[in-house]
Amino acid sequence: MSGSHDHDHDGHRDHSHDGHHHHDHDNHYSDMQARVKALETLLTQKGLIDPAAIDAIVETYETKVGPRNGAQVVAKAWSEPAFADWLRRDATAAIASLGFAGRQGEHMRAVFNTPETHNLVVCTLCSCYPWAVLGLPPVWYKAPAYRSRAVIDPRGVLAEFGVTLDIAQKIRVWDSTAELRYLVVPERPAGTEGLDAAALADLVTRDSMIGTGLAMSPETGA
Ligand code: FE
Repeated sequence: MSGSHDHDHDGHRDHSHDGHHHHDHDNHYSDMQARVKALETLLTQKGLIDPAAIDAIVETYETKVGPRNGAQVVAKAWSEPAFADWLRRDATAAIASLGFAGRQGEHMRAVFNTPETHNLVVCTLCSCYPWAVLGLPPVWYKAPAYRSRAVIDPRGVLAEFGVTLDIAQKIRVWDSTAELRYLVVPERPAGTEGLDAAALADLVTRDSMIGTGLAMSPETGA
């Protein structure tokens, strides 16, 4: 079953982009990136900012601040079956009920991992990402290697992230667009029955909500 996956072509068909031209220009800066880079260079030269401090802030938003919203959504879905049902039926509304709404009104869809199916999210054309629940996308999410290989060889990509799935577990790959973005609800780890929502949320990593990781085990913390 290695390499077996469904590719969500429905989303792909509607792949229009909110920016002007951020398709496959990976070796070039977009207008906005060029402006940001110029500003950063100028401020650094004037001694007003430390680029390392900017990297640290971006890193914090990528891995800590942003994904905490999504982690709350997942923890609530794990704890409250009614919320999980709502999330499954209308993720946009269920997520908005917690105060997390897309910046441009994009729709959300939650895809639930099960023992039979693991879900993996990619944007094959650029870097559409569920900002409202995950914050800033990581660099690798925007990289051509991830965008192409996630579709062709999802099992191999997962292995590189240190995730080895049971060979019988199917991998389903979802292609994000400007209109529709996906949140993976990882499987709830064993041994978490007594944990409250805050403790559960601590187990939900950013990567587990993209599908390149799993939720952490409370025993091992990994
Ligand atoms: Fe995109």
